[in-house]
Amino acid sequence: MTAQSALDRAHAHATNYLNTLAERPVHPTATFDDLRNRLHIPLPDQGVPDSQVIDDLVADVSDGLMASSGGRFFGWVIGGTVPAAIAADWLTSVWDQNAAAPACSPASAIIEEVCGDWLKSLLGLPMDVSFGLVTGCQAAHTTALAAARHRLLTARGWNAETDGLYGAPPLRLITSESRHESLIRSMRLLGMGTKAIEHVDCNEDGSISLSTLGSALSHNTTTPTIVCLQAGDLNTGAFDDFKQAIPLAKRSGAWVHVDGAFGLWAAADSAHAHLMAGIEAADSWATDGHKMLNLPFDSGFVFIADPEAHSAALSQPTSYSARMEGVRNQKDWNLEWSRRARGYPVYAALRALGRRGVADMINTCCTHAKRLVRGLGEIDDVEVLADPIFNQGLVRFVSKTGEHDNYTDAVIARIQADGAAWFGGATWRHQRVMRVSVCSWRTTESDVETAIACVRRILT
Ligand SMILES: *Cc1c(COP(=O)(O)O)cnc(C)c1O
Repeated sequence: MTAQSALDRAHAHATNYLNTLAERPVHPTATFDDLRNRLHIPLPDQGVPDSQVIDDLVADVSDGLMASSGGRFFGWVIGGTVPAAIAADWLTSVWDQNAAAPACSPASAIIEEVCGDWLKSLLGLPMDVSFGLVTGCQAAHTTALAAARHRLLTARGWNAETDGLYGAPPLRLITSESRHESLIRSMRLLGMGTKAIEHVDCNEDGSISLSTLGSALSHNTTTPTIVCLQAGDLNTGAFDDFKQAIPLAKRSGAWVHVDGAFGLWAAADSAHAHLMAGIEAADSWATDGHKMLNLPFDSGFVFIADPEAHSAALSQPTSYSARMEGVRNQKDWNLEWSRRARGYPVYAALRALGRRGVADMINTCCTHAKRLVRGLGEIDDVEVLADPIFNQGLVRFVSKTGEHDNYTDAVIARIQADGAAWFGGATWRHQRVMRVSVCSWRTTESDVETAIACVRRILT
């Protein structure tokens, strides 16, 4: 088995995919049955030549792929991939390094150190916070909340790491009702439970209400508390008022965690950095690399202002992991043990873009989001519910018969089936809405106009 032909085939298919991304329909056209019929063959006894496996794989799955890294995909918050990151991600697979510890791969340990420093500097975070390169924002939340749990409980004489949570002082987490569900799952996984979550009201724009946050904090001053704020609400893109909310929460001794899956990147663009004022005073921050930074999937970052709590919550000594002077043992800062050396694509993207390139990419996504939402709003029967503050907005389709929810869902389904653009639906404040999210560097002005024209065509 030589690798050459399989890699050559993969290279040819990959460049062909990227080169045709701008023209292909956004939505997958294959049905689940089509895909099963092609792929679910009996497991062969005899292997097949590598290059044929790759050719068949591409032929079998191509029409079952969503062109979500292309320029006309505006669903969820997904993001594209910058070329330098894709290339470095290939090499990461080729090198197949285990990023658990520096002894396994010195270069992978050092590249993560550099990524940590570059990211802190880009995101305006204190340079002495600890960090981990994790799989995504879900893992970043879980890491940060494990550190929060450690600090809040040790302050009350309870060690969650050795004693577990049976009989522990209860903790609570205060957040706004529009928080992302990944936060809830982290609470479940960490044994703190969803009943420990106290939801407070949002303002009209989706940001947390300071007065209800203040009263939730003062209503109960004895239960150790985590406050989770948001940089970028998943629907409206709203930012909480960090300058007020963080000192308010800290005055009652709370640990402040920030969900900035995509919004933390506002700090890297001078036109949006004001949204992040006061963010540096938080205790932990979670963000993604695979959204606004346009890295391939499997890339999130966690930063923690209490390195001792971070390490106490996660580190696990072993006899075989040779401690090395002056370099981090990465697994002591991450949930994973063996894992992909995911620093290489981060490093490559940041070097290829530079500070200015990152800022321009974010700014351009936001400009397109504003134009797209406003352009949709100019069409009859489109109501803008959230004009983008950052890269996200909301619209809905107003029906002549008053059935706005059904009509909105029906219009979204027709747009999705059309293939010129792709948007998804959600329920926001008890009504069905269409979410608009721009986070691929590939989106151009012409993609935005194509998407607006597509919606106009479907509505008329
Ligand atoms: C995407 C997202 C998450 C979850 O991130 P994953 O990378 O999918 O784990 C959390 N919070 C917000 C606001 C998000 O947009």
